[in-house]
Amino acid sequence: MASFTLHGIPVSRGIAIGRAHLLTPAALDVKHYLVPDESIEAEVQRLQNAIATVHKELQTLWSDLPKDSPAELGAFIDVHALILSDPMIAEVPLDIIRARHYNAEWALVTQIDELSSQFDDIGDAYLRERKADIQQVGERVLKVLTGTAGSLPKVNEHGETHAGMIVVAHDISPADMLQFRDRSFGGFITDLGGQNSHTAIVARSLDIPAAVGMTNASALIQQDDWVIIDGDNGVVVVDPPPEVLNQYRDRQLRIQRERKKLSKLKKTPAVTRDGVKINLYANIEFPEDCASAMEAGANGVGLFRSEFLFMGRIGGSANLPTEDEQFESYRKAVEMMKGRPVTIRTLDIGADKPLDAAEQTAPNPALGLRAIRYCLAEPQMFLAQLRAILRASAYGPVKLLVPMLAHAFEIEKTLGLIEHAMNQLRAANKVFDPLIQVGAMIEIPAAALTLPMFVKRMDFLSIGTNDLIQYTLAIDRVDHEVAHLYNPLHPAVLQLLSHTITTGAKAGIPVSVCGEMAGDTKLTRLLLGMGLREFSMHPSQILSVKQEILNCDIELLAPQTKKILRSFDPGDIADAMEALAHV
Ligand code: PEP
Ligand code: MG
Repeated sequence: MASFTLHGIPVSRGIAIGRAHLLTPAALDVKHYLVPDESIEAEVQRLQNAIATVHKELQTLWSDLPKDSPAELGAFIDVHALILSDPMIAEVPLDIIRARHYNAEWALVTQIDELSSQFDDIGDAYLRERKADIQQVGERVLKVLTGTAGSLPKVNEHGETHAGMIVVAHDISPADMLQFRDRSFGGFITDLGGQNSHTAIVARSLDIPAAVGMTNASALIQQDDWVIIDGDNGVVVVDPPPEVLNQYRDRQLRIQRERKKLSKLKKTPAVTRDGVKINLYANIEFPEDCASAMEAGANGVGLFRSEFLFMGRIGGSANLPTEDEQFESYRKAVEMMKGRPVTIRTLDIGADKPLDAAEQTAPNPALGLRAIRYCLAEPQMFLAQLRAILRASAYGPVKLLVPMLAHAFEIEKTLGLIEHAMNQLRAANKVFDPLIQVGAMIEIPAAALTLPMFVKRMDFLSIGTNDLIQYTLAIDRVDHEVAHLYNPLHPAVLQLLSHTITTGAKAGIPVSVCGEMAGDTKLTRLLLGMGLREFSMHPSQILSVKQEILNCDIELLAPQTKKILRSFDPGDIADAMEALAHV
C-alpha cells in the first residue's frame, strides 16, 4: 500500500510509531452488511459468543465488587444480567440474523433501537429509565463484537504489546479514554475532536502522542497499518517509507534525550532570572496522578478534576460515588502530595463530560446544566461532595474550587451550601479545616467582566482558559470544524486574561491559570509578562514550562507584553509574540 499523510490537530506532544489498532464506535456506527446463507449459523454463533462473554464480564464485575460498595451497584449488575438473558436480547437478534441475514452488530442494534422506541411510549418513569440499561447492555455486547476498548487485546496478532499500538477511532469520549489509563498505548488518532476537548486533555495527561480532528482517518487507516504520529504538528504518516521512518526514529530519540535533560530540573525552584518565584501546580484527574505530580516536582495540585471519579460508572447518574468513596479519593490525593496544597474542583459534569452519554439530552450541552449549575440543581449530591472535600482537609492543605460561576446568586448559594456542609460535619463530630480557602474558576466572560463580585467573596481565582476561549469566541471546544477559530491569542481573550490577573493582584488575592494555556511553553512568557505567578498544568508539561521560566527576565517581558495587549491586529500580535520569544 502506498504511503500517505494526514493532517489534523496536534493535542499531545511527541512521536509515536506503531501498528494501527482500529476502534469502531460501539452503538451508532456499526457495520451493516448481509450475511450469505452458508455463514448464517456462524454469525448467530458469533453473537451468542459475544453475549456469553458479556455474561462472564458481569459475573467478574460482581465478584470483584469491593465489600463496602453500595448495594445499588450489585443491583445494577443484576439488572444488566437479567436484561442480557431476556429473550428480547438473547433470542430476537438471532432470529433477525436468520430471517433478514443482517450481520450480528446490525441485528443487535436493530433490536435495541426497536426496544428503545417502545420504552419512549411508556408512562411510568421508572420503567422508562430502564431504556438506558438496555442500551448499556447492548453497547457491552457490541463492544465485544466489534473489539472496541472493552475487549482490547493485550498483544496484537504481530505479538506487539500496547506500547506498540496506535489507537485509531472515529471519536473517543473522555469516559472511554479512562479505559486507556492503565494500558500504555503508543498514541492515538481520532477523526473528531478539538485541541482542548476533554479527550485531548486526558491524552495529554497520559503523556502519549495524539492527533485529533483527522476527519476520516478511521476510514483511511486499516487495521495493522504502520503509522507514525507526529504529535507536535498533528501529522500522521501511514505506511511510511524506510527513510521517513528513520527520520522520525531519530526525532524520537532526540525528544527522549531532551526529556532526560529536563528531568534534572525537577528540584530546581521555578525562579526567573530577575528573581521572581513562580508556583507550578499539577492538573490531575485521579488521586493516583499525584505520583506524576510529585515526580515532576509540582508545588501542589492546582486542579483536581473531580468529575472523572463520577464518569464511566455502570448506572450513570443513578450510581454516583458516595461521600465516603469520594472522601477516600480526596484524602489519598492529599496524603500523596505530602503537605503541598491540593485544589479540588467541585463536580464539573456536563458538556463533553456527561455522567452518562445515554442520558445527555440537553440541546446545547456546553450552554446547559453544567458544572455548578448542575450542582446547585442537585444540592444533596453537592453537599455530599462538599462534605467529602471538607473531611479530606483534615489531612493536609486543601482548597475548594468552584467551576462555571457567573452570577452573584450562584456565589452566595455555593458559599451557603459550603457553610451548611460544615455544620453537618460539626453535628456529626467530623473534623475539617474551617478556614478552607474557596476559589472561583473564571471561565465565562461574564465572570471575567464582573470580578468585583468575585474578589469580594472568594479567597482565590483560577482562570479556566479552555472554557474562557470557548465562550468568548463562541466556538465549541470539541468541534474540529471550528478548531481553527480556537485562538488563545485573540485580543478579546488576552484582554479578559490580563484584566483578571491584574484585578486579582490589586485585590491581593492569588490568581492562577489552570487551562491548557498554562502548559503551553509558547505562551509562558506572555503570561509572566501579564503578571501571572501561578500556573497549573499536566505534570508532563511542568518541567518544560519551568525551563522557560528560568530563562526569563520579567522586567524585560512586561513592556513587550503591554505592546501585545494594546494591539488588535493579528499580524502585529504575531510579530510581538515573536519578539517576546527573544527578549
Ligand atoms: C478550563 O476550562 O480551562 C478548565 C481548566 O476546566 P476544564 O478544561 O475541565 O473545563
Ligand atoms: Mg472549564
